[in-house]
Amino acid sequence: MYNTKAYSAVSETSPLASTTIARRDPTEHDVQIEILFCGICHSDLHSVRNEWSNIMPTVYPIVPGHEIVGRVTKVGSAVTKYKPGDLAAVGCLVDSDGTCPQCKASLEQFCPNQTLTFNSPDKHLGGVTYGGYSDSIVVDERFVLRVPSNLDLAGAAPLLCAGITTYSPMRHWGVTKSKKVGVVGLGGLGHMGVKFARAFGAHVVVFTTSPDKTEDALRLGADEVVVSRNADEMQKHAGSFDFILDTVSVKHDINAYLNLLRLDGNITLVGAPEKPLDVSAFSLIMGRRSLSGSNIGGIAETQEMLDFCGEHNITADVEVIPIQKVNEAYERLLKSDVKYRFCIDMVSLKSA
Ligand code: NAP
Ligand code: ZN
Repeated sequence: MYNTKAYSAVSETSPLASTTIARRDPTEHDVQIEILFCGICHSDLHSVRNEWSNIMPTVYPIVPGHEIVGRVTKVGSAVTKYKPGDLAAVGCLVDSDGTCPQCKASLEQFCPNQTLTFNSPDKHLGGVTYGGYSDSIVVDERFVLRVPSNLDLAGAAPLLCAGITTYSPMRHWGVTKSKKVGVVGLGGLGHMGVKFARAFGAHVVVFTTSPDKTEDALRLGADEVVVSRNADEMQKHAGSFDFILDTVSVKHDINAYLNLLRLDGNITLVGAPEKPLDVSAFSLIMGRRSLSGSNIGGIAETQEMLDFCGEHNITADVEVIPIQKVNEAYERLLKSDVKYRFCIDMVSLKSA
């Protein structure tokens, strides 16, 4: 075991603050990574404030962070894919049972025995796992990803969650040329959704509650922008979408979007609001529409997404901050004031 610096919250009402945590010494299959950048996902905020207490209650202290990019500092004797000095990345998952049908199908994100990067039981050290708001992390090589060398590292970190969470459902639901695709909410996930839908050749429409994001939405790749609080603008698109990705982090009217789907259209929820959404049966019945959900992506698909980003030069638009500004960043997330992902420069932790 060794100690490393981190930022943690000790209760759902406490700010994040500097602390020291223990990490395991790398076992034979482990990779030790010095963390260079870590993105701030709205899931970090939901977890720190225990907003998902019914589903996955937070164990305190919590060290969030699951959009990790860094450099390998040490590898175990059986590690074959990484060596010290390599760039490496870690997303939301650090382990799974490897034997269930989901794992066998490379869908580790649905394994019933998965270990999340933070707030999951830690089978090595006891307690819970600690995430990427820290100096270093130790992860089984099966859950370590390779970062294409042409990508900016701060912009690449958010690919590990915001990237794969939007890429995976778009691939699953066949977002391609000639499809009309909506993205609801232009935050961290939403802006990645726009970039991928554009790269897949779809006609992309952004739905936003923030009229001042219109220009950015077009620059990011949207063909059209709809201010969702304007009922007339919404009505113009009734019955026309093949697929809509909903990234909104709070309770909202999902029926307003279901009604925009054409026959057999689908809305996939990736946003995970604390409170349940109300669904009118008629929004689904009329037009044989479907509503589904999606959870991040498997490890192989995450590597596929990173490679795709390398080929197409896709990264997140980040506002890089020192870790000392993390609590301020959370307050800004709550006001939809993020353009379009906060990313922590971990060098700042050294002086914390
Ligand atoms: P984010 O950066 O805060 O973006 C959320 C966006 O939702 C905001 O920028 C805003 O966009 C929109 N929004 C906020 N309040 C709204 C309201 N009252 N009504 C309508 N729209 C509103 O958050 P994120 O990091 O992208 O995460 C989004 C959600 O996805 C979170 O719930 C997070 O936990 C979840 N998530 C799920 C997965 C998964 O695997 N399923 C993975 C990662 C994250 P506009 O300003 O454009 O309206
Ligand atoms: Zn996330």
